[in-house]
Amino acid sequence: MATAIITGASQGIGACIAKRLAKDGFDVVINHYPSDSDREKALAVAEECRTYGVKAECIAADVSKFDQCEAMVKQIKADFGSIDALVNNAGITKDTLLARMKEEDYDAVIAVNQKSVYNMMKHVCSVMMKQRHGRIVNVSSVAGLYGNPGQVNYSASKAAIIGMTKTVAKEFGSRNITCNAVAPGFIHTPMTDVLSEELKNKMLAQVALGRYGEPEEIASVVSFLVSENASYVTGQVIEISGGLSM
Ligand code: NAP
Repeated sequence: MATAIITGASQGIGACIAKRLAKDGFDVVINHYPSDSDREKALAVAEECRTYGVKAECIAADVSKFDQCEAMVKQIKADFGSIDALVNNAGITKDTLLARMKEEDYDAVIAVNQKSVYNMMKHVCSVMMKQRHGRIVNVSSVAGLYGNPGQVNYSASKAAIIGMTKTVAKEFGSRNITCNAVAPGFIHTPMTDVLSEELKNKMLAQVALGRYGEPEEIASVVSFLVSENASYVTGQVIEISGGLSM
């Protein structure tokens, strides 16, 4: 059985990806931030994943921390034997205009959204290299492609992920490891629920399909990218935004 790790999978897009990959037949590792409330939500996600007849395990780790990622990857290797797919999904926002943005809010977003991707790819790639097989999907954002007012920290982290994705695709292609990114637009999740109605309507006006995306619509593209159907796709950024930019 193939194994997939999804970071930040206790809710939102990550939880949805975990369930979709379980449905596809992957054993899944649901990473969550080390807190009681995240643990509780992650356990519920794992229970739903198991209804597809696969193994599902929850592992607490703050993915912005190198050592915690190393320990998590070691544990997964010991418990599952292989690591076939890695989905770097964990992310946070700390939005405000540059003039008001505090240094700690810049650093926090870079640590969780960008450094985590280095932490996880660094440890997982050595496992995948030995297997001579692997699929990595990094969750970027349209903010990383086009910028977004109030998100200097977030768009920097999401643009960096795109550069990292292309570099890893080049470094590990000869080992049969693919690395791609998805760039979601406005998706219904706890992250976007907190935005003001005014901002939501302004954003929606730019979407060709005229509606928000659903987490399942991100999960289905990730499902493709980690499957054999995407065996010749690497170093790509797939925008999933309902036609936000054309
Ligand atoms: P979400 O509902 O807030 O989920 C993000 C998850 O990441 C949460 O479970 C969160 O846990 C977890 N997380 C945060 N920091 C972590 C850490 N240090 N270690 C481990 N887990 C951590 O957001 P979402 O909308 O599903 O977003 C998922 C990904 O999609 C993010 O990378 C986001 O940037 C990206 N994205 C979302 C949208 C959108 O419209 N929703 C658009 C473009 C890109 P806590 O709840 O404890 O913080």
